[in-house]
Amino acid sequence: MGRTKTPQLTLPGLRKVDSFLDSPWPPYVIKIELVSGCSVGCKFCAVRTPPDNWMPIKGLVSVLDEIRSLRWESRIVFSMHGDPSYHPSLVETLQLTRERLKNMNSIAVFTTGAGWRGRSLEMLDQVVRHGEPNCVALGDYGTGFAGRIRSGEYLALESLLPNLRVGEWPGPKWANPDRRFRSDERILSLCADPIRSKNVHNQSGNAYPETNYAEGRQCNLPHREMTIRWDGTVVVCENDMKGELIVGDVSIDGVEKTWRSAAYEAARSRLTAGDRSQRPCSGCDRLTTGRAARPALTDRLGGRV
Ligand code: SF4
Repeated sequence: MGRTKTPQLTLPGLRKVDSFLDSPWPPYVIKIELVSGCSVGCKFCAVRTPPDNWMPIKGLVSVLDEIRSLRWESRIVFSMHGDPSYHPSLVETLQLTRERLKNMNSIAVFTTGAGWRGRSLEMLDQVVRHGEPNCVALGDYGTGFAGRIRSGEYLALESLLPNLRVGEWPGPKWANPDRRFRSDERILSLCADPIRSKNVHNQSGNAYPETNYAEGRQCNLPHREMTIRWDGTVVVCENDMKGELIVGDVSIDGVEKTWRSAAYEAARSRLTAGDRSQRPCSGCDRLTTGRAARPALTDRLGGRV
């Protein structure tokens, strides 16, 4: 019996993926820096400046509206180089995000709760209940807040929100904050200190010394993640703390044009060829060639899984 031909993977509205260097797909995750700066000073993190800026609502709305009009189903993650809990109107910002994107995109917030000191449980309650992110990833470092929840302080809220699942990460797959969530999922993920879970990299030499450990190795992060800073500039990846390689500005060119900018494409080409000679990639020890080496999967294409 002859072998059947494997069908070509295409999605409506997208060009055929011809090669790894050809990047027509949307980012599978868009990371948005609501706040720049954080005062916690976690050992594994390079951010050392206190919170000093946050993304203007107008800028965020125009990003969200474009994502919606493009029908990109990318995961939206509020993280980057500052803790979102310092944002003066985080709940309203999350509400606005949910209103604009409806259930098209999975939404997650990464925080330690550092900005909620004195009213941490109340703020977490509001974020989960009224902000309606699919996942709050609460880091168990710096503030000790996740530990208090683990010891039982959050049980009352969990019983009020019957669809909320509280879990440890690393732990069961459903508690993984780096996955795509179903629209009806509400997860509180208590994330272990990355140093203890041995999941630390040098953040391009910003957190730990530069190294040639990954020299000549591919990096596929800019193929799959778009990282938007508070002021609209887009950096090559989340490790670019100082903005050493800015590949565009969504406040000038919008989201799609920036994602396909010549500077972005040049960085992708270099990194796919294993060329890490340019900052911030020189000295970076991060390897991203696992799942990312198979970009033509539904999730890599910003589609639902
Ligand atoms: S090599 Fe490092 S700094 Fe460069 S894009 Fe990859 S993860 Fe980011």
